[in-house]
Amino acid sequence: MAAMNPDEIISILKEEIKNYDEISKDQEVGTVISVGDGIATVHGIDHAMYGEVVTFENGLKGMVQDIRANSIGCILFGKDTGIKEGTKVARTQKQAGVPVGDAFIGRIVNALGAPIDGKGEIKADGYRPVENPAPGIIDRKSVTVPLETGILSIDSMFPIGRGQRELIIGDRQTGKTSVALDTILNQKGKDVICIYVAIGQKASTVAKIVSTLEKHGAMDYTTVFSSTASDCAPLQYIVPYAGTALAEYFMYKGKDVLMVYDDLSKHAVAYRALSLLLERSPGREAYPGDVFYLHSRLLERSSRLNEKAGGGSITALPIIETQAGDLSAYIPTNVISITDGQIFLESDLFNSGMRPAVNVGLSVSRVGGAAQAKAMKKAAGSVRIDLAQYREMEIFTQFSSDLDEATTQQLKYGSGLMELLKQPLSSPLSLHEQVITLCAATHKAMMHVETKKMKKYQRDMLDYFDSAYPEIGREIEEKRQLPDELAEKIVKVAEEFADKSR
Ligand code: ATP
Ligand code: MG
Repeated sequence: MAAMNPDEIISILKEEIKNYDEISKDQEVGTVISVGDGIATVHGIDHAMYGEVVTFENGLKGMVQDIRANSIGCILFGKDTGIKEGTKVARTQKQAGVPVGDAFIGRIVNALGAPIDGKGEIKADGYRPVENPAPGIIDRKSVTVPLETGILSIDSMFPIGRGQRELIIGDRQTGKTSVALDTILNQKGKDVICIYVAIGQKASTVAKIVSTLEKHGAMDYTTVFSSTASDCAPLQYIVPYAGTALAEYFMYKGKDVLMVYDDLSKHAVAYRALSLLLERSPGREAYPGDVFYLHSRLLERSSRLNEKAGGGSITALPIIETQAGDLSAYIPTNVISITDGQIFLESDLFNSGMRPAVNVGLSVSRVGGAAQAKAMKKAAGSVRIDLAQYREMEIFTQFSSDLDEATTQQLKYGSGLMELLKQPLSSPLSLHEQVITLCAATHKAMMHVETKKMKKYQRDMLDYFDSAYPEIGREIEEKRQLPDELAEKIVKVAEEFADKSR
């Protein structure tokens, strides 16, 4: 065959481009060629775009998730019972999105933003795409405002800032959800909007979480997105993005938002199911090759904006479940590398009664230090190192009977610290309570207390501070500083209380 001359090629291409619009108009409606497990393969709408919403004859909506040479793969947002071979499908030219608005606060919604709490319709102020590019570097500001969890072991050693992404990771039943919920409870009166996204959990678990939030008045500033284990994989896959779309609505209006994704392990599993059904080739642990992008594009959307861009922030607390404490599995390593630190909760600690079961050695917060209150930074001082030394010494001296006085004292100090870091559910500590506790403990003003009685002693001492010297607490909350005189005063009052209680 003779070679075509370049001019000829160009003229053919030009003709093709000219006719492009007409071709696409002709092909806005297609037909289903196969359906099953929440996935439909559609022939005839070749021009549908990735992420576009399509409508089926019976009103069901779906989203284009896979584009092949002769057909497209759509995930279905509902039961596929009304759909069969030959069902007509139409393009909508719209990207998948959810309704957003202030009225969503206090409500429970599904993955598509529709209410499921039986409290009637929600008035939306707008519509935002489920997939949205993360704010660029120019629009961002560094993290300088703390997001207080009210949990002593986290606020003192692994502080979180507004706009940060801190992973909560641990085996099953190690208190992961509890840490996130306590953090939500602690946002009361702090002008933070909370969004809790439940992915692939049992409906009864979600109901329990909602009742905890209601009991403590936290639903006044919280929205719950829920896609339970009985929902189809596409809905579980889309729900964290939908929650983030609502968070972005608030962030661009200048509000601070706290997002909890509980949990991303189940999210990855839903995505794996969906990818296998779309016949994508499986990779490591049978996850598709783009599973890293699944979570990176989600968590990159958490940020702190500068004033020009809106000034709000999204702080993310994603949760990951590990198997037998294995942090080096595929999904855990991915999410660890995306986030700005992790709180590692350990089964052994949890079972020995150390709750929250924060592993001090393996937890880290990479950006929150800049946001930590000066008072807290100073009071927490060497606690982390003290604890590490204690843990080491504890193992080392386990079998020796005659310890010298210095070692005995250090062991006692360490076990007292561990005891102080224990915290029951739903009882957040305010900044001044945390600072006073740490100050008294690190200055050895609580050395005489028996470990068993430590928790009660701590509570009584904090009450004594609040009733006899309320100005100390007030100064810490207002100035957020801990000058040496104030620290000395705290130690003096702590000793005074010790004398009284002896
Ligand atoms: P799952 O893997 O099932 O999601 P999880 O890691 O989210 O579990 P939680 O549901 O938060 O763990 O907690 C497990 C149990 O431990 C719950 O019954 C909870 O009440 C209890 N628990 C969690 N934290 C504490 C705490 N600080 N003090 C006392 N009990 C706690
Ligand atoms: Mg949980």
